[in-house]
Amino acid sequence: MPPFPFDNTYAKLPDLFFQRVDPRPAGSPVMIQFNRDLAGKLGLDVDGLDSPEGLEYFSGNRIPEGADPIALAYAGHQFGGFSPQLGDGRALLLGEVVGQDGVRRDIQLKGSGPTPFSRRGDGLSALGPVIREYVLSEAMAALGVPTTRALAAVATGDRVARESMLPGGVFTRVAQSHIRIGTFQFFAARGDWGNVGALADYAIGRHYPETREADNPYLALLAGVIEKQAKLIAHWMQLGFIHGVMNTDNISISGETIDYGPCAFMDAYHPAKVFSSIDQNGRYAYAQQGPIGHWNLVRFAETLIPLIDNDQEKAIELAEGALDRYPEIHGEALRARYAEKIGIESNSENDWELVQQLLSAMAAGRADFTLVFRHLSGALESGDDELVESLFSDSGAIVSWMKSWRERIPEDERANAVALMRRINPVFIPRNHRVEEVIAAAYQGDYKPFRSINAVLQNPFLEQSQSVEYELAPNPSEVVQSTFCGT
Ligand code: AMP
Ligand code: MG
Repeated sequence: MPPFPFDNTYAKLPDLFFQRVDPRPAGSPVMIQFNRDLAGKLGLDVDGLDSPEGLEYFSGNRIPEGADPIALAYAGHQFGGFSPQLGDGRALLLGEVVGQDGVRRDIQLKGSGPTPFSRRGDGLSALGPVIREYVLSEAMAALGVPTTRALAAVATGDRVARESMLPGGVFTRVAQSHIRIGTFQFFAARGDWGNVGALADYAIGRHYPETREADNPYLALLAGVIEKQAKLIAHWMQLGFIHGVMNTDNISISGETIDYGPCAFMDAYHPAKVFSSIDQNGRYAYAQQGPIGHWNLVRFAETLIPLIDNDQEKAIELAEGALDRYPEIHGEALRARYAEKIGIESNSENDWELVQQLLSAMAAGRADFTLVFRHLSGALESGDDELVESLFSDSGAIVSWMKSWRERIPEDERANAVALMRRINPVFIPRNHRVEEVIAAAYQGDYKPFRSINAVLQNPFLEQSQSVEYELAPNPSEVVQSTFCGT
């Protein structure tokens, strides 16, 4: 049996969809992490790949049997400006496998050398972004968020030129597909409606097969993507996650979180929080993510207009109808999730008001997002508010909020509320200052901190008393102010 049971379909699409290119070999690769658990779920030969032979594949030194390495073409709006020609500049799709769950997934190398889409880039990745994407994407998966996964992280033994010379790495990403809004835009911008149609049919077959039976499958595709994005972004927000670079080339049609560049989890809550050093105007700030998701979906809808109806006016009307559902779906998901965070299962308008009051108190009191929600369950259980109050720089607002909150949750519902809150509010998130430490150690060749943080983050909702250092908020000198793209 070959180590990867590849069954490739994207490579059979028309020529303009991709360019064939082989990975660039690595000088002296070392395996940092191979995700055996994920490999098993994907139906790969786990032991066969957890070996020197596996390292050859995951470093790009050898092309596995059945692979058909391609760089995918796409376009995209980056920070609002349209680039008609982006594409995989530092990534290569090796091929697709169908996992034990029957789901087809892409296996992609990231950082394995230049492609025809590299433009001025070198097609490489420094080790830092490899480590970062591994930790963040696996943490998101354990938190229950739809996301691409990490199959392997390799140090290449080569140096890459960034602000300084840095050790290089190759990351192996697994995704339900790499079709982005930007992939549709690539063809739409060229007026190539035949290929927009081919892509839409492919996306329907792969991600929304039920819409084939709809009266208007392309409209149903649009509605499907809208629903997934609306819920995904609510899920991010409920965890204090800031994606950081919600360009249309980084928005997956499958509804998975993709492209872990400058993303970060907030420590202290603030709705205008931004981490990415290149997001100067706060376009992708925490609370902007909902509206930006809508903006991105409008760009998606634009590419589908000629498919939705021959009568343009009618097509626009239908697309607008689908888009109008976005604020509703997103808002509902956000309200439900935030209500659950404070122990309320079926929420009303007043509960949203209660949530808003808490968030205002948190913003004013610079309170840690994750710790507040987690410690609220402890307060409800014990009746002791001290720990929660200690998280606020100014405790006035939170003291009165705790009183209103307790009035909202009847005594006999408290045990259920506590259990609900502990299921939804994590103890552990990949704290920025810890991730930075893990990366710094990896640059020194020490991968132990990387392994311990991954182990803790596999059970983010579970108290792990031996791992409190990963639970705590940064002290002022540890706070990470900004993050950088993987480039
Ligand atoms: P991103 O900011 O990661 O979404 O990437 C935006 C575009 O830049 C994509 O087309 C990437 O393939 C390309 N890109 C980013 N980094 C590099 C690199 N080091 N070499 C070549 N292309 C790159
Ligand atoms: Mg990208």
